[in-house]
Amino acid sequence: MKHELPELPYEYDALEPYYEERTLRLHHGAHHKAYVDGLNNAEGKLREAREKGDFALVKHWEREIAFHGSGHILHSVFWENMGPGGGGPAAGAVARQIETDFGSFSAFKGQFSAAAAAVEGSGWVILAWNPIFGKLEILTAEKHQNLTQWGVYPLLVLDLWEHAYYLQYQNKRPAFIEAWWNLVNWENVNRRFAGGSEGCCCG
Ligand code: MN
Repeated sequence: MKHELPELPYEYDALEPYYEERTLRLHHGAHHKAYVDGLNNAEGKLREAREKGDFALVKHWEREIAFHGSGHILHSVFWENMGPGGGGPAAGAVARQIETDFGSFSAFKGQFSAAAAAVEGSGWVILAWNPIFGKLEILTAEKHQNLTQWGVYPLLVLDLWEHAYYLQYQNKRPAFIEAWWNLVNWENVNRRFAGGSEGCCCG
């Protein structure tokens, strides 16, 4: 079963002016697509290795499925986390949990934005539910797969790779972060927090 690039849940120009069509088309159609292709390729190479009993390159392909698989998952969540008419403070159950675990929405937003700005090079900031600790956490990822905790479920993610914002915002990453808050689809975040796999279009 091959992984497929998910359709966006809105038109390419739907996130304007905060996220321009040109950037979104390239980001979804080229960058996310490359992670899907890379994951399918790595899984195929590992299947071949098992069939041949030749694991000489297993270290390489295990790294590849971690990188491309994590990229595919995070982008799939990222598209659904955004929507036209989004933004504003959190709502629903996730808003109450944010107050419990971060003190207030503005304290949460402050930490999330600061963590996003502080990501070195290519990476992500992630609001995740950790069912082992029973709390929300803000994590950052280097590339797509490093610096996480095991077992967390991503609720709200923001892509800080330059490919995510450079065409529109150049080196002004904080301006991109500030604009992105206007797109957050809290209904989607709440669906993911409710625990269903419904919120994830990742296959
Ligand atoms: Mn990206």
